[in-house]
Amino acid sequence: TSSLPALDASKLTYTLADPSARSVPDEATAFSGNETICTDHMVTAVWHASSGWSAPELKPYGPLTLMPTASVLHYATECFEGLKAYRGHDGKLRLFRPNLNAKRMLMSTLRISLPGFDPAELERLILALLEVDGPKWLPRDKPGKYLYIRPAMIGTQPQLGVQAPREALLFITASFMPKMDAPAGGMKLHTNPEDMIRAWVGGFGYAKVGANYGPSLLATNEARQRGFGQILWLYGPENYCTEAGASNFFVVWRTKEGKRQLVTAPLDDKLILDGVTRRSVVELARERLGEELEVVERKYTIDEVIEADKEGRLIEAFAAGTAFFICPVSQIRHRDYDVHFPMVKGESGQYTAMIKGWMSDIMYGNEQHPWGVVV
Ligand code: PMP
Repeated sequence: TSSLPALDASKLTYTLADPSARSVPDEATAFSGNETICTDHMVTAVWHASSGWSAPELKPYGPLTLMPTASVLHYATECFEGLKAYRGHDGKLRLFRPNLNAKRMLMSTLRISLPGFDPAELERLILALLEVDGPKWLPRDKPGKYLYIRPAMIGTQPQLGVQAPREALLFITASFMPKMDAPAGGMKLHTNPEDMIRAWVGGFGYAKVGANYGPSLLATNEARQRGFGQILWLYGPENYCTEAGASNFFVVWRTKEGKRQLVTAPLDDKLILDGVTRRSVVELARERLGEELEVVERKYTIDEVIEADKEGRLIEAFAAGTAFFICPVSQIRHRDYDVHFPMVKGESGQYTAMIKGWMSDIMYGNEQHPWGVVV
């Protein structure tokens, strides 16, 4: 099979939409409806086990055609990515470490028996879509705006046998997303119901597969009805803290010895997603805060957080991910106990604000940094 055509961005064909067919909606309209508003174009690429990858196509955004027996509709052979394109204060359009998203997409793809590809080719296809839609949908004179890019792959073989699909479709869309990075007063987390977990050792919590998300909605909806924004997912009889909704989770505390630490769950059990934001926070904090704030990736329990709270050692907490960016956490409810994090000026902790500032400077070109990839 290695002689079959690989995914090749240089073969991309272009069928352009009529630019006057759709206008860019204002923000209020874009986010008020029940449908995500996508840009004029999308990229698709078809794979067959017998013929490899066909030439990818850039074409007008529109519906996909699938047979009712398509693998994805029955066996969740689906994975996706999420990254943003940022219009910088210098007028340039940037992606933030897109190579990490492309690599993670390949990892997720292989976890659900969909076909492999060179991640660099996926990155090139994302850039090609932005070169076409970026100027209209993220105008140069409106710095500080972004589009959300969603690459996805599905098994399309119309065959109800439970088997690895022999046909697949890769598609990439770009869309508007409301600014969600700062719910007023901080994000409120509720720990998961005792009879529900998000991921387990030996499972696929580390992969960005659709099958991780649908089943989490029940707990999230319940928590929302009680006034909380996201679930803090705990794991095991020890109640290890893992992730907050579709974000990684960080706590800043003082140890019993008085040392300041930034703590987050480790990647080794394959329970959590290796977030691009998480990785960047860990790397920047290590590089720029050094001795002042020790960065620790380790298992820690909700009881340790509660103990730190009772002993007055909690400093701040935040969620980190592409959608919510760096989002201060103001409260965690675990069973009958409420942890409240002090919010400086009612907004954020000082480390949260500092790290968020560094990252956003890279994303929007205030700081020239190799992580900011110019389109
Ligand atoms: N955890 C989960 C479960 C997620 O879906 C996401 C969003 N991709 C994240 C963490 C954060 O990852 P990233 O920083 O790459 O967006």
